[in-house]
This record gives sequence, C-alpha cells and structure tokens, in this order.
Amino acid sequence: MSTFRGQISLDGPSGTGKSSVARAVAARLGASYLDTGAMYRAATVAVLDAGVDPEDADAVARVVAAARIEVGTTAGTELVRVDGVDVAKRIRGAEVTRVVSPVSAVPAVRRQLVDQQRSLVAEADAVVVEGRDIGTVVLPEATLKIYLTAAPEVRAQRRAGQLGIRDAAEVAELTKDLRRRDEYDSSRADSPLRPAADAVIVDSTKLDRRAVVDRVVALAESAVGAGERS
Ligand code: C5P
Repeated sequence: MSTFRGQISLDGPSGTGKSSVARAVAARLGASYLDTGAMYRAATVAVLDAGVDPEDADAVARVVAAARIEVGTTAGTELVRVDGVDVAKRIRGAEVTRVVSPVSAVPAVRRQLVDQQRSLVAEADAVVVEGRDIGTVVLPEATLKIYLTAAPEVRAQRRAGQLGIRDAAEVAELTKDLRRRDEYDSSRADSPLRPAADAVIVDSTKLDRRAVVDRVVALAESAVGAGERS
C-alpha cells in the first residue's frame, strides 16, 4: 500500500480517459476519489427535471441551490443522488451530456459545488479529484496537479470504442460534440478549462491507460509534500 498523503488534481478535456485513470490511481494509492463532473451532471438532472431552460442562468441557479446533490468518494462504487434519487446511470446519458456545459457555466452553481467539493476533500487524508478547474480553482494548493490531454480524433475514437460506435459518420459526430464541449468549457468566463501553471501535462495520445496510470502514480510517490512516509 502506498503511503501517499495529499491531494492530486486531475484536469483535462473529455475523452482523455481521465475518469478511468483517476479511479485507477486512487485504487493504487489507496486514496479517496471525487468525480466533480458527476456533480455538475447531477445538477443538470435537477435542471432538466425542473423543466427550466438550461440557458436561463437565474432559473438554473435557483433550481440547483434547492437540490440536494450527493456523491460518493470511493473509486470502486459510483454513488450519485439528487434529492435522494439514484441518478448514477442517468447522468451519463445524452440528454444530460447535451446541456451540462451551460449549467456548469453558471457562477452560482460553480460556487455551490466548489464549496461542497472542498468539504468532501477535507475529510480525506489522500484523495484524487478529477474535473476541469481542480488545479486552478478548487484546490490551488494540491500536492500534485496533472493535466491530461490527447488529440481530439484520438479522444473521439476512444469514446466511440466505449460506446460501441463504428460508423464513420457517427464518429465524426462524436468528434464534433467533443470539440463543442471543449470550446464551451475553455471559453466560459468563470473557471475555464486550462492547465494550472504548476500542472504536469500528460499527453495520452500515444500512451495506453496503464502507462498513464504508472506515470501519475510515480509522480505522486515522488511529489514534494507527498507525505509522512511511515
Ligand atoms: O467530466 P465530465 O465529462 O463528466 O464533465 C461534464 C461537464 O461538467 C464538463 O463538460 C464541464 O462542462 C463540467 N465540469 C466543470 N467543472 C468540473 C467538472 C466538470 O465545469 N470541475
């Protein structure tokens, strides 16, 4: 078992394999794991169910403020609830994916979820937190900051593989969707997607998941402040 103590932020665009890398790193280090994307997706479920326009920032902020969003911090089990209802499967669906970016661009939503993220992280001795703004905003003092990236075509291919899509036109559609979300997340005014100045950039275009996980674990174990080794 590793003796890593501290916080690892894992940021980057969609389709880089960030979630599976984050979970595997957490398991290898015996650390807790927080998927902040799941929290923005859960907030989006609340917005959809309330029937408000996802582009109406005030209405979105009101709905999310009233919603009880719960997420687990264990890599092995996915716990996501909105007002007590299990939405772990639903948050991965196309309906949620389509409107999660405008919902997560609302500053009041971000403030609320960032507060919640910091409280959840404060409870853990060792934690891997994945998202878009973890190294820049949520945990500026993280022990180790990773920014995981890959070429857009490779990201779309991987996403297609996960979804079992082979048709070239559908893969092209996925590539377009990835670019659209990257563009939205990178250009929003509040907490845009970008690497922290002190992040280690890991490009997974030519690396398989295992190589990426090995690299991050090695960096964690040698990170300054990585901990009271016992
Ligand atoms: O990581 P995932 O694809 O589940 O994230 C879904 C969306 O949630 C992202 O496209 C982004 O709009 C938003 N998000 C965010 N900040 C985070 C994590 C996710 O804005 N820390």
